[in-house]
Amino acid sequence: MQSLTKTTDGLLASAKQSLLYTAKRPEVVMTRGEGMYMWDTEDKAYLDFIGGWAVTSLGHSPAVLQKALAHQSGQLVHASPGFYNKPMIEFANLLTEISGFDKVFFACSGAEANESAIKLARKHGALHLNGAYEIITLTNSFHGRTLATMSATGKPAFENLFEPKVPGFKHVPINDFDACFAAISDKTCAIMLELVQGESGVHSVDAPYLQALRKACDVYDIMLIFDEVQTGLGRTGKLFAYEHYGVKPDVMTLAKGIAGGFPLSAMLTTEQYDLFEPGDQGGTYSAAPLGMAAGHAVVSEILQRGLTDNAAKQGAFIQEKLNGLANHYAVSQVRGKGLLLAFDVPEGTAPVLAEQCMDNGLLVNAPNAHTIRLMPPLIVTAEDVEKMIGILTGVLETCGLKNEAVYS
Ligand SMILES: *Cc1c(COP(=O)(O)O)cnc(C)c1O
Repeated sequence: MQSLTKTTDGLLASAKQSLLYTAKRPEVVMTRGEGMYMWDTEDKAYLDFIGGWAVTSLGHSPAVLQKALAHQSGQLVHASPGFYNKPMIEFANLLTEISGFDKVFFACSGAEANESAIKLARKHGALHLNGAYEIITLTNSFHGRTLATMSATGKPAFENLFEPKVPGFKHVPINDFDACFAAISDKTCAIMLELVQGESGVHSVDAPYLQALRKACDVYDIMLIFDEVQTGLGRTGKLFAYEHYGVKPDVMTLAKGIAGGFPLSAMLTTEQYDLFEPGDQGGTYSAAPLGMAAGHAVVSEILQRGLTDNAAKQGAFIQEKLNGLANHYAVSQVRGKGLLLAFDVPEGTAPVLAEQCMDNGLLVNAPNAHTIRLMPPLIVTAEDVEKMIGILTGVLETCGLKNEAVYS
């Protein structure tokens, strides 16, 4: 094995031997990153518009994160979930201060934050709604890969997997208030949704719909949960996506961009839903010092450098540039908010386009066979955008995707 791992081919062969096959991965091995770029073992550079899957909010290996991890690891890596630690208190204070929420629970992944929200909703149902436990979620939503969050997820591909699912989830179509209203019963304890559905290909909820959901939740004492795992902390050009709508949920979950790549998530709620008692929710790594220091450093940097505004500005620039491409190539107008954007291409061509972009040193994501999604780090510059557009244009040209088919 030793000699095998000296070459890229050897590394790839040994990866296939020892790793469970849970993801289709291209035949490269990434070794380092800096800012907007990642490099592989052949020292090929990639301009990263996937951003570690909307995770590397400050770009790759940012100095502030390195420093925070190095410093905290010299102080205290892990204290035990049974003790307070200083970074935990500091980060909880920061998050509650900037989010409009009163209380926070920390976990390590988006799925776990959503599990916490699901549990909190069921607790609310048990305490205040005669044991109501059903949660309404949206078709084509994505909430994670634990069994409960897969059950909450409205992704058609998950439908028949790992049966039986966790009971108590009803899926209704996005932006259809009547369908949601019809699904509400005396068993309903919560409605949970993404404001911009990321994994399904970047589809946003409408403001009137969201306002109507808020009203229904108030009238029936149902908890409203926003899964801002992908949209939170600057991604959409507002610090939280709910600010685009002026509709505040009772519970909000955050993950992905929160610690720039260190595994961390949070569930935030209000004083009113401060319902957990010791034993209801926890985790060995909940609010462990290293992650708290990472989160504090990353979120502070997002705030200090005004990266939310940069996301709004560069997002608008990307939209303008991409919409210009639609005059010449078979691409749709862009949808999304801030730096969570997507456009459609002819059915079946998205994976090929993403692959060709990668060959040409640009990382973009194809969430399905007809969609290209962009979610670059919040530090992206106009120069990076121009470079991305240049590579993408070349690829659309070589793929022969001239504007014959009409998209709009
Ligand atoms: C990625 C994602 C999750 C799951 O987060 P993990 O950290 O992979 O568990 C949940 N909800 C949304 C909206 C996501 O984008």
